[in-house]
Amino acid sequence: MAKYKVEVDLKTCISTAACYATDSQHFKLCKNQQANVIGGETDESKSTHVFEDDQIANAQEGAKSCPVSAIKVTQL
Ligand code: SF4
Repeated sequence: MAKYKVEVDLKTCISTAACYATDSQHFKLCKNQQANVIGGETDESKSTHVFEDDQIANAQEGAKSCPVSAIKVTQL
């Protein structure tokens, strides 16, 4: 089981929907069409959450799908 942090930089996100189309376990659409991390804390600049499960590969796929590299997945 991996413990990892998923972070979306909302100053960089350009609302393409690629991440939550690729990985709906970690990412969701929020009101302004940007992506939020599911279950996470969100302010005007970022959305972040720490997960502890076997799904890190999916989060990494979601991060790779982002055309502006707004998503960071860090193993803890
Ligand atoms: S893929 Fe990147 S730019 Fe597109 S909604 Fe997700 S974080 Fe934003």
